[in-house]
Amino acid sequence: MAEAENFIQQIIEDDLRSGKIASVQTRFPPEPNGYLHIGHAKSMFVNFGTAEKYGGKCNLFFDDTNPSKEKTEYVDAIKRDIRFLGYEWAKECYASDFFDTIYEFAEKLIVDGKAFVCDLSAEEIKATRGTLTEPGQESPYRNRSVEENLTLFREMKAGKYADGEKCLRAKIDMASPNVNLRDPVIYRILHATHHRTGDKWCIYPMYDYAHPICDYLQGVTHSLCTLEFEDHRPLYDWVGINLGFDPKPRQIEFARLNVTNLVMSKRYLKKLVEDGSVHGWDDPRMPTLAGLRNRGIPAEAIKDFCSRIGVAKANSECEISYFEAVVRDYLNAHAPRAMAVTDPLKLTITNYEGSEEVDFEINQTDGNAGTRKVPFSGELFIERSDFSLDPPPKYYRGRIGGYVRLKNAYIVRCDEAVTDENGNVTEVKATYLPESRSGSDTSGVKAKGVIHWVDANSCKDVEIRRYEHLLRDADYAGQDFSERMNEDSEHILLGKAEPYLATAEEGTAFQLMRTGYYKKCTENGKLVLSEIVSLKDNFNK
Ligand code: ATP
Ligand code: MG
Repeated sequence: MAEAENFIQQIIEDDLRSGKIASVQTRFPPEPNGYLHIGHAKSMFVNFGTAEKYGGKCNLFFDDTNPSKEKTEYVDAIKRDIRFLGYEWAKECYASDFFDTIYEFAEKLIVDGKAFVCDLSAEEIKATRGTLTEPGQESPYRNRSVEENLTLFREMKAGKYADGEKCLRAKIDMASPNVNLRDPVIYRILHATHHRTGDKWCIYPMYDYAHPICDYLQGVTHSLCTLEFEDHRPLYDWVGINLGFDPKPRQIEFARLNVTNLVMSKRYLKKLVEDGSVHGWDDPRMPTLAGLRNRGIPAEAIKDFCSRIGVAKANSECEISYFEAVVRDYLNAHAPRAMAVTDPLKLTITNYEGSEEVDFEINQTDGNAGTRKVPFSGELFIERSDFSLDPPPKYYRGRIGGYVRLKNAYIVRCDEAVTDENGNVTEVKATYLPESRSGSDTSGVKAKGVIHWVDANSCKDVEIRRYEHLLRDADYAGQDFSERMNEDSEHILLGKAEPYLATAEEGTAFQLMRTGYYKKCTENGKLVLSEIVSLKDNFNK
């Protein structure tokens, strides 16, 4: 048997070894009320990953018990995002597929004296629920006869009552120390059109009641969910025991993924989309899987992150810089290198004539990646921040009288800076050392600094997009998400890129030398380089 990597796998191995189960069946249970986010990637990693590991199966189960918030658009988006991560579900099913059986089970509970129709309003139920230290009060409708309950429940189903006028409650224990067992509501009246069952139903089962039934009907052996459901497990088990489920699925809870600077709530993400704070669910700043994909973050890096953070029993918060470090690790190994200048400054080499091509290493961490040719001439663009008229100590980039190496090409000495009427540098004039060509340098000159450049005669205009986190740092912690919003998280720059980038395959992730990882795309004929992650590593290992 494979070796258990966490407490869930340990439980599964014990169940397999003892013969309690013959094979593993899990399910990934999104509610189709928004797009999946990186927290869901962890849930998929646990559900799909664990089934995969033990040769079992994982279903895609849409929890669509809440008709007013659910949409087919979300169902499609969810499937796209699961496929993006490379997972395959055994079966696609919906809570609504099981509505008939869920209803029949409710009648069975009524017949067995374990459920009753209650006329209290939602507020009255809440007010009589008791507290953590005090028991609740029994409903005056608790002792209705089986016949009366059946009649009323069927009338609820037939549409005789208005929303909230009645509900069906499990008859458990109003004095239970677990509030979830105090006669919880298991069916409510809701005259709403459901995205799959249309107007067939005007009563809908509550999540806590429907979920164990759906798990059982799918043959789920282990129902893996997040910690907030721990207190609901006694109810999950109550449903299974009282409906005589054999074998009874087992619910196991694990810690949610929380990441600093990221909002992980569909409700809030939806608000950002609706109020126009972002360009859509797939905005590259969004922590949705659609956003991460659009950002250019490879699925492998997301899965690697989920694997590295592990599966724990206690909630914690992960630093966003850790996620970025994992993405950087992956891209460092896989992304080809290229050159682009984000804030161009003209560099003219006064003693250079003509043009040539220099060899450029495609990826120095990948020994087999090879080289490609990059055009070079006496007219270049360099990064404005790579030249200083007033260099601080230890500044080894462009400075008057100083030597600097142009990456993969020659060493140049900056001789003169042309300035405008405001004193801003508009052009740098330099001379190059012909014997200093990279790979065959016999100049004897040591240049401490190395800078990137592009050939002014062949380069392309490029729109460069840079991003900051949508949420500001932890010193804002405790404040509402909306107060932590970073209003200025997208920056557009106009730069120059080597011509190769214009013809490179769409969507490729590049390491722009000394700048960061960027995704190449073309929008309305315009070359765009969009930041995936910067090169700077903020993560303190
Ligand atoms: P949200 O609050 O973002 O809407 P949710 O829990 O309501 O999240 P569901 O669609 O119900 O979203 O979630 C599907 C599955 O993904 C559930 O099993 C849920 O526990 C799990 N999940 C959701 N968020 C996270 C997270 N941050 N970390 C791990 N698992 C998560
Ligand atoms: Mg939910």
